[in-house]
Amino acid sequence: MKTQMIVKASSVEEAYELLNEHASHTVLGGGVWLKRLPRKIEKAITLDALNLDYIKAEAELVKIGSMTPLQSLVDSDLVQSLGSEILSKAINHVMGVGLRNLATLGGSVVGRYGFSDIIPPLLALDAKLVFHRKGEITLEKFLETKGSVKDILIEVIVPRKKSVGYFKKVSNTPLDFSILNITIVKKEDSYCIILGSRPGGAVFARKAMAFLGNKPLNTQNINEAVRLMEAEISFGTNHSATADYRHVLAKTYVRRGLEEVGNYES
Ligand SMILES: Cc1cc2nc3c(=O)[nH]c(=O)nc-3n(C[C@H](O)[C@H](O)[C@H](O)COP(=O)(O)OP(=O)(O)OC[C@H]3O[C@@H](n4cnc5c(N)ncnc54)[C@H](O)[C@@H]3O)c2cc1C
Repeated sequence: MKTQMIVKASSVEEAYELLNEHASHTVLGGGVWLKRLPRKIEKAITLDALNLDYIKAEAELVKIGSMTPLQSLVDSDLVQSLGSEILSKAINHVMGVGLRNLATLGGSVVGRYGFSDIIPPLLALDAKLVFHRKGEITLEKFLETKGSVKDILIEVIVPRKKSVGYFKKVSNTPLDFSILNITIVKKEDSYCIILGSRPGGAVFARKAMAFLGNKPLNTQNINEAVRLMEAEISFGTNHSATADYRHVLAKTYVRRGLEEVGNYES
């Protein structure tokens, strides 16, 4: 990234106006990912003065400001209470404390990275995003959108529903990107199964989820759910793993995850 000017926005509206002045104008989160890109940015807009670094509890929600560093989510009791810690545990797998103190939740979501270990647990916990102009949108809908995001993400909202979660990141070393990640959440009346970094973006194993409904997680039901997941989800090959290897990993860890959330209940 080559920046000609860094501008500190004094309001969200000003940040939005600046962003939309020119195609090359870009919002800076932690700048950790942007810094790696060979892009020329005429104006980089910082949101540092806008008080978007917070984690707040409301009756049935947790609201997390877009400029909240990832490490704050790892350390937060409130975030740990979501889905039996899946979100905080998943984020704890992203590089080391140094990077997590810089990288923000906003940059991690708006980037829509296929390799993300953060998006799948947020998806499974039914997260919503609040943008300055677009307003509130589910994370699921946002991930369907394409192209550059010319809006300011203000906060991420996560419902505080009773749930039990499982997250597994498979990588060559703890500091590598995921070869595959598996997120499973048992909610009050349903299960959510998400495969991420396949190496494409995160997808729901919808047929397995529909089959499970709120059935008990006995061996027969788990076997059928794994079979349906295998039939539905496709995997790809890249420099870190083959499609066949990812398929075997998915089979193994979806089974383990379902067993784990099943055992947690009993
Ligand atoms: C070496 C390295 C290893 C990594 N390993 C992993 C890993 O293993 N797993 C994983 O999940 N992630 C990993 N990441 C990604 C990391 O977790 C962050 O997601 C990434 O750095 C983006 O966060 P950021 O705050 O630095 O965003 P930036 O780089 O600042 O921004 C990213 C994008 O989001 C936009 N943006 C940022 N904030 C806003 C906002 N509020 N409103 C609108 N647009 C916004 C920017 O314009 C830009 O397009 C890694 C990153 C690096 C550099």
